Amino acid sequence: MYVCGVTPYDSGHMGHAFTFAIFDVLVRFLEANGTRVKYVQNITDVDDPLFERARRDDIDWRELADRETKVHVRDMTVLGWRPPDVMPRVSEEIPRIVTAAAKLKASRHAYQADALYFDTHSYRGFGRLSHRSRRSMIRKLREEELLGTVGPDAKRDPLDFALWRTSRPNEPAWPSKFGDGKPGWHIECSVMAMRYLGPQIDIHGGGRDLIFSHHESERAQSESLTGKAPFARAWVHTGMVRFNGRKMSKSLGNLVKVSQALQRAPAAAVRLYLVSHRYQRDWDFEWTGLARAARLVERMRKFLADDARLKTPKRAPRRALMSEFNAALADDLDTPRAVRALRAALRQKDAAAVRAMNEVLLGSASLT
Ligand SMILES: [Zn+2]
Repeated sequence: MYVCGVTPYDSGHMGHAFTFAIFDVLVRFLEANGTRVKYVQNITDVDDPLFERARRDDIDWRELADRETKVHVRDMTVLGWRPPDVMPRVSEEIPRIVTAAAKLKASRHAYQADALYFDTHSYRGFGRLSHRSRRSMIRKLREEELLGTVGPDAKRDPLDFALWRTSRPNEPAWPSKFGDGKPGWHIECSVMAMRYLGPQIDIHGGGRDLIFSHHESERAQSESLTGKAPFARAWVHTGMVRFNGRKMSKSLGNLVKVSQALQRAPAAAVRLYLVSHRYQRDWDFEWTGLARAARLVERMRKFLADDARLKTPKRAPRRALMSEFNAALADDLDTPRAVRALRAALRQKDAAAVRAMNEVLLGSASLT
């Protein structure tokens, strides 16, 4: 499983935490049922927004990336994740990215203009992952200011995207046969996913805002590189978290940081609140919702503490409770239904079931 990780330039907010908590439930559910999972989550430490932030704050981009990567790992550790097996950083994968770009050029999937571009006409089915028309793809690129220019010295088609570009002044540049420069965003993930997981992967995840253009482009260039399809057998995308009615984002300044939530509630409550939402839907973060989750966690903590103190004889979890819990998660990871099963286990005072469900839903997040 490959999940697109953070661009480390602003410490983790609830939108990030939602995505990674959901994929953590998925890993834990698969592993609890005997499937071995190799989990790769990258750190996008070579990215324009990161460089811009470093310039604005007059700080070395590597220092900024290191600091914010630590914040991300710390937040997710507190929220009880099973750490990814590999967390590759783009900055350490550059020679492989250059090799992949050269291979795409040699096989005529890429051409050189003012940058090295992927030729989207060389790949059949560009747009099929996101189910977007050509017009809608162009509109999205324009909205995200990723459209660039089309022309004799630039890209041939508005949908083509850069594999390798010249760096701007004050940006890092790496040597390559296409000139000193930096990789495009999409090729980074193709290369890291294939290095650690092979040419075809089972699950590729990320936030829904990545479907186009990131994953659409990643899929096209990966399949063009290997000649194997599908690149990913399942694409899993998480919804957006809103706050005060709008998508949480740095540009709108309406972020709720994980650290802020942890000041008001135990880690297990923050995590329970996150996973009480269906992964593919957008939802609104509300402090009252977090408080409700905290009350459930407190009931659970008391019940488990009493159970440990009274030394009740150990029993296997009730089968009906566990099978409802597993059926919920097997049904396209229906975590809200799994949380209802957890409530039922608590009502029926089945400590073993509560513990087993906690392990999957809340991981190692602390109840206090
Ligand atoms: Zn990615």
